[in-house]
Amino acid sequence: MPTDIVEKILRLKRDRNAVILAHTYQPGEVQDIADFVGDSYGLSVKAAETPAEVIVFCGVMFMAETAAILNPAKEVIIPDPRAGCPMADMITAADLAALKQQYPEYAVLCYVNSPAEVKALSDICVTSSNALAIARQVPAETGILFVPDKHLGSWVQEQTERVMVMWEGFCPTHVRITPAMLARARSEHPHATILIHPEAPRESRVLADQVLSTGGMCAFAAHSDATEFIIGTEIGVLHTLRKRNPQKRFSCVDESITCPNMRRGSLDKVEKALAGEGGMRVTVPQDIADRARGSLEKMLAMSG
Ligand code: SF4
Repeated sequence: MPTDIVEKILRLKRDRNAVILAHTYQPGEVQDIADFVGDSYGLSVKAAETPAEVIVFCGVMFMAETAAILNPAKEVIIPDPRAGCPMADMITAADLAALKQQYPEYAVLCYVNSPAEVKALSDICVTSSNALAIARQVPAETGILFVPDKHLGSWVQEQTERVMVMWEGFCPTHVRITPAMLARARSEHPHATILIHPEAPRESRVLADQVLSTGGMCAFAAHSDATEFIIGTEIGVLHTLRKRNPQKRFSCVDESITCPNMRRGSLDKVEKALAGEGGMRVTVPQDIADRARGSLEKMLAMSG
Protein backbone atom coordinates (compact mmCIF):
# COMPACT_ATOMS: atom_id res chain seq x y z
CA MET A 1 0.00 0.00 0.00
CA PRO A 2 1.43 3.49 -0.85
CA THR A 3 2.53 4.92 2.51
CA ASP A 4 1.97 8.68 1.96
CA ILE A 5 -1.72 8.33 1.20
CA VAL A 6 -2.11 5.91 4.12
CA GLU A 7 -0.39 8.39 6.48
CA LYS A 8 -2.62 11.19 5.19
CA ILE A 9 -5.75 9.12 5.75
CA LEU A 10 -4.67 8.17 9.28
CA ARG A 11 -3.92 11.81 10.13
CA LEU A 12 -7.24 13.04 8.72
CA LYS A 13 -9.05 10.29 10.56
CA ARG A 14 -7.51 11.37 13.88
CA ASP A 15 -8.15 15.08 13.23
CA ARG A 16 -11.81 14.48 12.41
CA ASN A 17 -12.48 11.77 15.04
CA ALA A 18 -13.58 9.51 12.20
CA VAL A 19 -14.01 5.77 11.81
CA ILE A 20 -13.68 3.92 8.50
CA LEU A 21 -16.08 1.03 7.98
CA ALA A 22 -15.62 -1.19 4.92
CA HIS A 23 -17.70 -4.00 3.46
CA THR A 24 -15.94 -7.30 2.70
CA TYR A 25 -16.70 -6.72 -1.02
CA GLN A 26 -14.55 -3.56 -1.13
CA PRO A 27 -11.16 -3.60 -2.89
CA GLY A 28 -8.31 -4.90 -0.69
CA GLU A 29 -6.59 -1.51 -0.32
CA VAL A 30 -9.78 -0.08 1.23
CA GLN A 31 -10.26 -3.06 3.54
CA ASP A 32 -6.66 -2.67 4.72
CA ILE A 33 -7.14 0.94 5.84
CA ALA A 34 -10.52 0.33 7.52
CA ASP A 35 -11.09 0.20 11.28
CA PHE A 36 -13.63 -2.52 10.77
CA VAL A 37 -14.35 -4.85 7.83
CA GLY A 38 -17.54 -6.86 7.83
CA ASP A 39 -20.82 -7.78 6.21
CA SER A 40 -24.00 -5.70 6.34
CA TYR A 41 -24.93 -7.02 9.78
CA GLY A 42 -21.49 -6.51 11.33
CA LEU A 43 -21.29 -3.02 9.85
CA SER A 44 -24.76 -2.10 11.18
CA VAL A 45 -23.67 -3.16 14.67
CA LYS A 46 -20.41 -1.17 14.42
CA ALA A 47 -22.29 1.86 13.04
CA ALA A 48 -24.70 1.71 16.00
CA GLU A 49 -21.86 1.43 18.55
CA THR A 50 -19.14 3.77 17.31
CA PRO A 51 -18.17 6.75 19.49
CA ALA A 52 -16.60 8.48 16.44
CA GLU A 53 -18.18 11.71 15.18
CA VAL A 54 -17.67 10.94 11.49
CA ILE A 55 -18.31 7.60 9.76
CA VAL A 56 -16.67 7.05 6.37
CA PHE A 57 -18.71 4.24 4.94
CA CYS A 58 -16.92 2.27 2.23
CA GLY A 59 -19.70 0.26 0.67
CA VAL A 60 -22.84 1.10 -1.27
CA MET A 61 -25.53 3.69 -0.65
CA PHE A 62 -28.06 1.58 1.28
CA MET A 63 -25.32 0.69 3.80
CA ALA A 64 -24.32 4.33 4.32
CA GLU A 65 -28.01 5.21 4.67
CA THR A 66 -28.38 2.53 7.33
CA ALA A 67 -25.43 4.01 9.24
CA ALA A 68 -27.00 7.49 8.97
CA ILE A 69 -30.37 6.18 10.23
CA LEU A 70 -28.72 4.50 13.23
CA ASN A 71 -26.58 7.60 13.97
CA PRO A 72 -28.73 10.68 13.31
CA ALA A 73 -26.30 12.98 15.15
CA LYS A 74 -23.21 11.83 13.23
CA GLU A 75 -21.76 12.74 9.88
CA VAL A 76 -21.86 9.73 7.54
CA ILE A 77 -19.87 10.08 4.32
CA ILE A 78 -19.86 7.75 1.33
CA PRO A 79 -16.62 8.17 -0.68
CA ASP A 80 -18.36 7.61 -4.04
CA PRO A 81 -22.06 8.55 -4.11
CA ARG A 82 -22.50 6.72 -7.42
CA ALA A 83 -22.06 3.40 -5.58
CA GLY A 84 -25.66 2.24 -5.54
CA CYS A 85 -27.15 -1.24 -5.34
CA PRO A 86 -29.33 -2.37 -8.26
CA MET A 87 -31.19 -4.81 -6.00
CA ALA A 88 -32.15 -2.00 -3.59
CA ASP A 89 -33.45 -0.01 -6.56
CA MET A 90 -35.79 -2.85 -7.57
CA ILE A 91 -38.42 -1.86 -4.99
CA THR A 92 -40.00 1.45 -4.01
CA ALA A 93 -42.10 2.50 -1.02
CA ALA A 94 -45.15 2.63 -3.35
CA ASP A 95 -44.48 -0.99 -4.43
CA LEU A 96 -44.34 -2.15 -0.82
CA ALA A 97 -47.41 -0.14 0.18
CA ALA A 98 -49.39 -1.86 -2.62
CA LEU A 99 -48.11 -5.29 -1.56
CA LYS A 100 -49.06 -4.65 2.06
CA GLN A 101 -52.61 -3.81 0.95
CA GLN A 102 -52.81 -7.22 -0.72
CA TYR A 103 -51.48 -9.01 2.39
CA PRO A 104 -52.52 -6.84 5.34
CA GLU A 105 -52.01 -9.55 7.96
CA TYR A 106 -48.48 -10.48 6.89
CA ALA A 107 -45.29 -9.35 8.66
CA VAL A 108 -42.87 -7.45 6.40
CA LEU A 109 -39.26 -8.65 6.56
CA CYS A 110 -37.03 -6.28 4.66
CA TYR A 111 -33.52 -7.16 3.57
CA VAL A 112 -31.21 -4.26 4.44
CA ASN A 113 -30.36 -4.05 0.72
CA SER A 114 -33.28 -1.67 0.25
CA PRO A 115 -34.03 2.07 0.24
CA ALA A 116 -34.67 3.85 3.57
CA GLU A 117 -38.31 4.51 2.53
CA VAL A 118 -38.90 0.77 2.18
CA LYS A 119 -37.32 0.04 5.57
CA ALA A 120 -39.64 2.70 7.02
CA LEU A 121 -42.69 0.70 5.84
CA SER A 122 -41.34 -2.64 7.10
CA ASP A 123 -41.76 -4.45 10.40
CA ILE A 124 -38.26 -5.87 10.78
CA CYS A 125 -35.03 -5.53 8.77
CA VAL A 126 -32.86 -8.57 8.16
CA THR A 127 -29.43 -9.27 6.71
CA SER A 128 -28.28 -12.49 5.11
CA SER A 129 -26.65 -13.49 8.40
CA ASN A 130 -29.78 -13.17 10.55
CA ALA A 131 -32.73 -13.59 8.12
CA LEU A 132 -33.30 -17.22 9.11
CA ALA A 133 -33.18 -16.62 12.86
CA ILE A 134 -35.49 -13.61 12.58
CA ALA A 135 -38.03 -15.39 10.32
CA ARG A 136 -38.19 -18.16 12.93
CA GLN A 137 -39.16 -15.59 15.58
CA VAL A 138 -42.18 -14.35 13.61
CA PRO A 139 -45.27 -16.10 15.06
CA ALA A 140 -45.87 -19.36 13.16
CA GLU A 141 -49.42 -18.41 12.11
CA THR A 142 -48.28 -15.11 10.54
CA GLY A 143 -47.38 -15.01 6.84
CA ILE A 144 -44.22 -13.18 5.77
CA LEU A 145 -43.77 -10.62 3.00
CA PHE A 146 -40.08 -10.77 2.09
CA VAL A 147 -38.56 -7.87 0.15
CA PRO A 148 -36.68 -7.24 -2.09
CA ASP A 149 -34.50 -10.34 -2.73
CA LYS A 150 -36.44 -13.34 -4.01
CA HIS A 151 -33.41 -15.63 -3.71
CA LEU A 152 -32.64 -14.86 -0.07
CA GLY A 153 -36.41 -15.09 0.55
CA SER A 154 -36.68 -18.49 -1.10
CA TRP A 155 -33.71 -19.78 0.91
CA VAL A 156 -35.43 -18.64 4.14
CA GLN A 157 -38.65 -20.31 2.98
CA GLU A 158 -36.84 -23.58 2.18
CA GLN A 159 -35.31 -23.65 5.67
CA THR A 160 -38.37 -22.54 7.66
CA GLU A 161 -41.27 -23.83 5.49
CA ARG A 162 -43.11 -20.61 6.32
CA VAL A 163 -45.91 -19.08 4.26
CA MET A 164 -44.06 -16.35 2.38
CA VAL A 165 -44.59 -13.95 -0.50
CA MET A 166 -41.41 -12.76 -2.17
CA TRP A 167 -40.75 -9.54 -4.08
CA GLU A 168 -39.12 -10.27 -7.45
CA GLY A 169 -35.82 -8.50 -6.74
CA PHE A 170 -32.38 -10.02 -7.13
CA CYS A 171 -28.68 -9.20 -7.03
CA PRO A 172 -27.30 -8.91 -10.57
CA THR A 173 -23.90 -10.10 -9.31
CA HIS A 174 -25.01 -13.22 -7.43
CA VAL A 175 -27.52 -14.37 -10.07
CA ARG A 176 -24.56 -14.85 -12.40
CA ILE A 177 -23.35 -17.78 -10.26
CA THR A 178 -24.45 -20.73 -12.40
CA PRO A 179 -24.62 -24.49 -11.72
CA ALA A 180 -22.00 -24.92 -14.49
CA MET A 181 -19.54 -22.74 -12.52
CA LEU A 182 -20.06 -24.89 -9.42
CA ALA A 183 -19.67 -28.11 -11.38
CA ARG A 184 -16.40 -26.87 -12.90
CA ALA A 185 -15.09 -25.71 -9.51
CA ARG A 186 -16.00 -29.10 -8.00
CA SER A 187 -14.16 -31.02 -10.70
CA GLU A 188 -11.08 -28.74 -10.64
CA HIS A 189 -10.91 -28.68 -6.81
CA PRO A 190 -12.38 -32.02 -5.68
CA HIS A 191 -11.19 -31.58 -2.07
CA ALA A 192 -12.41 -28.01 -1.61
CA THR A 193 -15.41 -26.99 0.49
CA ILE A 194 -17.81 -24.83 -1.52
CA LEU A 195 -19.45 -21.88 0.28
CA ILE A 196 -22.19 -19.91 -1.45
CA HIS A 197 -24.18 -16.79 -0.59
CA PRO A 198 -27.99 -17.06 -0.24
CA GLU A 199 -28.43 -14.29 -2.85
CA ALA A 200 -27.40 -16.92 -5.43
CA PRO A 201 -30.21 -18.79 -7.25
CA ARG A 202 -31.50 -22.04 -5.74
CA GLU A 203 -30.19 -24.23 -8.60
CA SER A 204 -26.66 -23.09 -7.70
CA ARG A 205 -27.14 -23.05 -3.93
CA VAL A 206 -28.09 -26.71 -3.82
CA LEU A 207 -24.74 -27.67 -5.38
CA ALA A 208 -22.68 -25.99 -2.63
CA ASP A 209 -21.62 -27.46 0.72
CA GLN A 210 -22.73 -24.50 2.84
CA VAL A 211 -25.05 -21.51 2.27
CA LEU A 212 -23.67 -18.59 4.28
CA SER A 213 -23.61 -14.80 4.50
CA THR A 214 -20.18 -13.27 3.95
CA GLY A 215 -19.80 -12.91 7.72
CA GLY A 216 -20.83 -16.55 8.03
CA MET A 217 -18.24 -17.55 5.42
CA CYS A 218 -15.50 -15.77 7.39
CA ALA A 219 -16.51 -17.51 10.62
CA PHE A 220 -16.87 -20.91 8.93
CA ALA A 221 -13.50 -20.71 7.17
CA ALA A 222 -11.77 -19.70 10.40
CA HIS A 223 -13.17 -22.61 12.42
CA SER A 224 -13.38 -25.37 9.82
CA ASP A 225 -10.72 -28.10 9.58
CA ALA A 226 -10.90 -27.79 5.78
CA THR A 227 -7.94 -26.06 4.15
CA GLU A 228 -9.30 -25.31 0.67
CA PHE A 229 -12.46 -23.34 -0.15
CA ILE A 230 -14.35 -22.26 -3.25
CA ILE A 231 -16.27 -19.06 -2.61
CA GLY A 232 -19.57 -18.28 -4.31
CA THR A 233 -19.97 -14.57 -3.69
CA GLU A 234 -18.42 -11.22 -4.69
CA ILE A 235 -14.71 -11.63 -5.27
CA GLY A 236 -13.68 -8.94 -2.72
CA VAL A 237 -14.27 -11.34 0.18
CA LEU A 238 -11.26 -13.39 -0.96
CA HIS A 239 -9.00 -10.60 0.34
CA THR A 240 -10.65 -10.79 3.77
CA LEU A 241 -10.50 -14.58 3.88
CA ARG A 242 -6.88 -14.85 2.72
CA LYS A 243 -5.72 -12.18 5.15
CA ARG A 244 -7.46 -13.81 8.13
CA ASN A 245 -6.49 -17.40 7.17
CA PRO A 246 -3.04 -17.27 5.53
CA GLN A 247 -2.57 -21.03 5.91
CA LYS A 248 -5.73 -21.86 3.90
CA ARG A 249 -6.50 -21.63 0.18
CA PHE A 250 -9.43 -19.69 -1.27
CA SER A 251 -10.62 -19.19 -4.83
CA CYS A 252 -13.72 -17.66 -6.33
CA VAL A 253 -16.22 -19.88 -8.13
CA ASP A 254 -15.59 -17.62 -11.13
CA GLU A 255 -13.48 -14.47 -11.53
CA SER A 256 -16.45 -12.71 -13.19
CA ILE A 257 -18.42 -12.53 -9.92
CA THR A 258 -17.78 -8.87 -9.17
CA CYS A 259 -20.08 -6.03 -8.13
CA PRO A 260 -19.22 -2.90 -10.17
CA ASN A 261 -20.57 -0.67 -7.41
CA MET A 262 -18.37 -2.21 -4.74
CA ARG A 263 -15.39 -1.95 -7.10
CA ARG A 264 -15.79 1.86 -7.07
CA GLY A 265 -14.01 2.01 -3.70
CA SER A 266 -10.42 3.32 -3.61
CA LEU A 267 -7.89 4.81 -1.17
CA ASP A 268 -7.88 8.01 -3.15
CA LYS A 269 -11.65 8.45 -2.66
CA VAL A 270 -11.37 7.67 1.07
CA GLU A 271 -8.70 10.34 1.43
CA LYS A 272 -10.75 12.93 -0.50
CA ALA A 273 -13.86 12.10 1.53
CA LEU A 274 -11.97 12.68 4.80
CA ALA A 275 -10.36 15.86 3.47
CA GLY A 276 -13.77 17.26 2.49
CA GLU A 277 -12.75 17.28 -1.17
CA GLY A 278 -14.96 14.44 -2.35
CA GLY A 279 -17.59 11.94 -1.37
CA MET A 280 -21.02 12.91 -0.13
CA ARG A 281 -22.65 13.30 3.27
CA VAL A 282 -25.55 10.84 3.45
CA THR A 283 -28.70 12.06 5.17
CA VAL A 284 -32.18 10.58 5.49
CA PRO A 285 -35.28 12.76 6.11
CA GLN A 286 -36.15 12.57 9.80
CA ASP A 287 -39.66 11.08 9.52
CA ILE A 288 -38.37 8.28 7.26
CA ALA A 289 -35.26 7.75 9.40
CA ASP A 290 -37.31 7.50 12.61
CA ARG A 291 -39.57 4.77 11.16
CA ALA A 292 -36.71 2.91 9.44
CA ARG A 293 -34.71 2.99 12.68
CA GLY A 294 -37.53 1.09 14.36
CA SER A 295 -37.24 -1.84 11.94
CA LEU A 296 -33.42 -1.79 12.13
CA GLU A 297 -33.41 -1.69 15.94
CA LYS A 298 -35.86 -4.59 16.00
CA MET A 299 -33.37 -6.52 13.84
CA LEU A 300 -30.51 -5.72 16.20
CA ALA A 301 -32.59 -6.77 19.22
CA MET A 302 -33.77 -10.02 17.57
CA SER A 303 -30.24 -10.95 16.49
CA GLY A 304 -28.76 -10.70 19.95
S1 SF4 B 1 -23.26 -7.45 -4.57
FE1 SF4 B 1 -25.41 -7.33 -5.24
S2 SF4 B 1 -26.60 -6.86 -3.44
FE2 SF4 B 1 -24.43 -6.41 -2.96
S3 SF4 B 1 -24.22 -4.22 -3.46
FE3 SF4 B 1 -23.62 -5.36 -5.31
S4 SF4 B 1 -25.54 -5.47 -6.49
FE4 SF4 B 1 -26.14 -4.90 -4.41
